[in-house]
Amino acid sequence: MSKEYDAPVKGNILIVDDSLDNLRLLSSVLMKHNYRVHCVADGEMALHAIRGELPNLILLDVVLPAINGYKLCKILKSNEKTRQIPIIFISSLDSESDKVQAFKLGCADFITKPFFIEELLVRVETQFKIYQEKDNLKQLLYQNVKERKTVEKELNQSRALLAGVLNSSLDGVAAFEAIRDRWGSIIDFRWLVVNPVAAMSVGETGDSLRGQLLRETLSNNLFEGLFDFFVQVVENCIVLDKEHYYNREGNWFHIVAVKLGDGFAVNFRDITERKQMEIALKEANQELQRQANIDSLTQVANRRRFDEYLAQEWSRCAREQQTLSLIICDVDYFKFYNDAYGHQAGDQCLYNVAQGMAMAIKRPADVVFRYGGEEFAMVLPFTQGEGALKVATDVRERIVGLQIPHDLSEVSQYVTLSLGVSSIIPSVDSSPESLIAAADRALYEAKASGRNRVEYKALELPFA
Ligand code: GH3
Ligand code: MG
Ligand code: MG
Repeated sequence: MSKEYDAPVKGNILIVDDSLDNLRLLSSVLMKHNYRVHCVADGEMALHAIRGELPNLILLDVVLPAINGYKLCKILKSNEKTRQIPIIFISSLDSESDKVQAFKLGCADFITKPFFIEELLVRVETQFKIYQEKDNLKQLLYQNVKERKTVEKELNQSRALLAGVLNSSLDGVAAFEAIRDRWGSIIDFRWLVVNPVAAMSVGETGDSLRGQLLRETLSNNLFEGLFDFFVQVVENCIVLDKEHYYNREGNWFHIVAVKLGDGFAVNFRDITERKQMEIALKEANQELQRQANIDSLTQVANRRRFDEYLAQEWSRCAREQQTLSLIICDVDYFKFYNDAYGHQAGDQCLYNVAQGMAMAIKRPADVVFRYGGEEFAMVLPFTQGEGALKVATDVRERIVGLQIPHDLSEVSQYVTLSLGVSSIIPSVDSSPESLIAAADRALYEAKASGRNRVEYKALELPFA
């Protein structure tokens, strides 16, 4: 077998000719050139053959019994399924009108008999090439249409998804484009996208807002309050994440804005309820904290707060190398007071003494504490011994000045205090406890030497 018989088949050709010689010649030449050939002798048989399998090309004689070539061509060209099959007429009719008629019917080529084999082969080959090109183009077009349809479908799906998300969002969502003056500065923004919540927040509908200016749709002071932030988002690509208080309506908004083209997209949520709860909680916590630090009987700071405050001011004075002073005082003969006037009167007396002491305070950092029982303390940061002595003397005089009768006191007819004072510049060699101990010793001395008086004791340092 020749090499050509092994080559792949180039295509199917249907030859329609009533001359047996022609059929033989054509089919042998074409088969030799690797075409698969089907031969029929008239139009009826041709139609029958085509119904079985569509050929890639038809070589058609014009003069045929019953259905002639032109008629058959007309039938094939009027049928959707066979319209695309190229038809080459092979005829001995050679007049111009014959050819014109053939081409008008839609034939692809016209070869006159007798023909040259080479010419026939070239013309057949050309038709196959054209057919192939057409087929390639068709495939390409089909592919393009298919891809476009896929993209369109995806686009529609994402549009629907976006619309669904925007419409069902409980947050306001909107997008704006910047409006600039001729120098390029942003002077306003234009609504581009807006969901129902965002539209409702400015009392409009989405359709009426699109295209409008932000300045015209937002109340003036809300616009001014936010405008600079939005400009920053667009000009500096800053992500805005802000809890914004709109004081005209007392509303809080959580606003997140990001740059989008020459504009920005924004998402906002009314957080007024949460914010009000936060504020109430903060106030409640502050009140709790205050209560935790206050002695309920005397309404001055309690012992817990004393420990905390002394440690805090100790560190502060140590850092700044400043003197910290402490006064510890005790009501004289208070047991007798209770005995004489009753426990309830004793409570009231403690309250009056505490409030009297508080009156002696001159600086915000000076604090009175109920140290325990009928003992009180005063912490005086940034105060030297001399100043502390003055405060202690003032306190003693004030308490006497309250003139709270105390018949059983052995030192006065009124309630009196004994006070111990000490001072220190805190350092690593000392501790708050050493200051308390020194003030305590001074108080003991004040008691021992007659009560209703002030004593000062310096600290006993470990190396002294
Ligand atoms: P001194 O002059 O030595 O300090 O004598 P004093 O009687 O004041 O000292 P003492 O420690 O013997 O007694 C203190 C009294 O203070 C005993 C206690 O019942 C009373 N006291 C302590 N806390 C309270 C209080 O909260 N209310 C009342 N009414 N009395 C209190
Ligand atoms: Mg006591
Ligand atoms: Mg006492």
